[in-house]
Amino acid sequence: MRYGIIADVHANREALEAVLACLGRQLIDRYLCCGDLVGYGPDPNACVEAVKKLDGLAIVPGNHDLAACKLRDTNAFNEYARKALVWTWQTLELSHQIWLSELPRTYRSFDIMLVHGSPRSPIDEYMFSVDHYEINRPLLNVPFTFVGHTHVPVVFGPDGLTTPQPEKPVVLADAGPWVLNPGSVGQPRDKNADASCAVFDTATREFTVHRCPYDITATQQKMRAARLPALLIERLSWGD
Ligand code: ZN
Repeated sequence: MRYGIIADVHANREALEAVLACLGRQLIDRYLCCGDLVGYGPDPNACVEAVKKLDGLAIVPGNHDLAACKLRDTNAFNEYARKALVWTWQTLELSHQIWLSELPRTYRSFDIMLVHGSPRSPIDEYMFSVDHYEINRPLLNVPFTFVGHTHVPVVFGPDGLTTPQPEKPVVLADAGPWVLNPGSVGQPRDKNADASCAVFDTATREFTVHRCPYDITATQQKMRAARLPALLIERLSWGD
């Protein structure tokens, strides 16, 4: 089975299209999405529609998704995110809000789990460090857990933390459990502005991060037209 994994699309249509074109060349059997389809970016409806159509999709919601359908208090967000969320809930079609609100917070099959944040706090906890891996370890009852939320690609395993380099497969040993973050499609924060995604092949046990250049200027122009906060527009150029 070859999984195509995306997270933190954040309503960035140009980045999503670049990533789906890249994954389309990778013989993907099933797509996994670790949440935050919307928030920050200018194209929430188009992004929900594109992701809904993906083959064999398994998806969980993120904190921005739940806030965009008014299931979260926006006071928990910083002022830039909050402004973008108000714009998003005015823009996002009701049918998409209902779809997002009904997604399971955790997705589990016999060998994989998906959460936006972490197993013990599926919506909110950031898995940045080995400490987060260790504290969640009792809940890692499948070999492979996929997360998003930090916007930084990472591999956690029994030997600690690895930062996967683009196009360089990380082979996952039999001993796990593994926690895998594909990075962010629509708002990368690892100082690389290219959209991020990953492929996981269960036969070879290779997890490979791919970085996909996209038309950042086009996204930024739409954000300006929608009067989204300047900081959110500028940070796309830095990838931070
Ligand atoms: Zn996010």
